[in-house]
Amino acid sequence: MSLIKSKERGSLVVISGPSGVGKDTVVNEYVKNHDNAWISVSTTSRAMRPNDVEGETYNFVTKEKFEKLIEEGYFLEYADYVGNYYGTPKKFINEKLEKGIDVFLVIEIQGAMKIKDLIPEAVFIFLLPPNLSTLKKRLKSRGTDSKEKIIERFRTAYREINEVTKYNYVVINDELSETVKKIEAILVSEKCRCDRIEEVSLNNEEEYMHMMLLEDKEMPNKVIEIDE
Ligand code: ADP
Ligand code: 5GP
Repeated sequence: MSLIKSKERGSLVVISGPSGVGKDTVVNEYVKNHDNAWISVSTTSRAMRPNDVEGETYNFVTKEKFEKLIEEGYFLEYADYVGNYYGTPKKFINEKLEKGIDVFLVIEIQGAMKIKDLIPEAVFIFLLPPNLSTLKKRLKSRGTDSKEKIIERFRTAYREINEVTKYNYVVINDELSETVKKIEAILVSEKCRCDRIEEVSLNNEEEYMHMMLLEDKEMPNKVIEIDE
């Protein structure tokens, strides 16, 4: 019987970082190797890109539909980012967390800060590129944005990097496997937090203490020899 009972609840993990830093790549890689992790699918009003899959990368809706969903209280948080709406649907999140599943929200900073107000115990991780020229290369290599969009996203990235201290953890996404290992380490540490303890259950406490005392008694007294 363990001495403490900790919450079995999953962690809500918020991942942010400049566009192109590798957020989706890192989180997908993590989830591929962990059964107890799930990525929330956001809703957006942005146009689909060639590699987007409806219902997988996002749920795509019109601006009008998005605004209707806001009114209906459908979102846990939402933000207007680079001219488009992005939002996290409320449904499924609590259900997954209660089942002990870690839920990843890959969202931008305004949304992350709303989550921080609502759910301060969530885990906030900011991904940084090793340097800005790598970020530029990654944005270009993704091949999903026009030159204008890349410039706009790069300019936004400059501003966003200053927000890093609002997060609990910062991880530099250089080698993908190393980044994933760091995310694993963060989540393992989070499970060890004392504020997850629900109960300290020293069942048969007296017996336990008695046993400890007996053991102490049986231990020979240490003789400390000091060389002269
Ligand atoms: P984000 O979700 O932050 O916008 P993506 O996950 O789409 O970024 O990654 C942007 C590009 O960078 C993709 O082409 C991806 O393959 C590449 N990438 C991501 N992480 C790494 C890494 N650690 N090393 C090299 N390339 C990476
Ligand atoms: P992209 O257009 O590159 O897919 O996403 C642009 C930005 O929106 C990224 O930083 C992404 O993490 C963020 N984003 C995606 N979904 C959501 C969401 O549900 N809420 C918020 N606030 N941001 C999101």
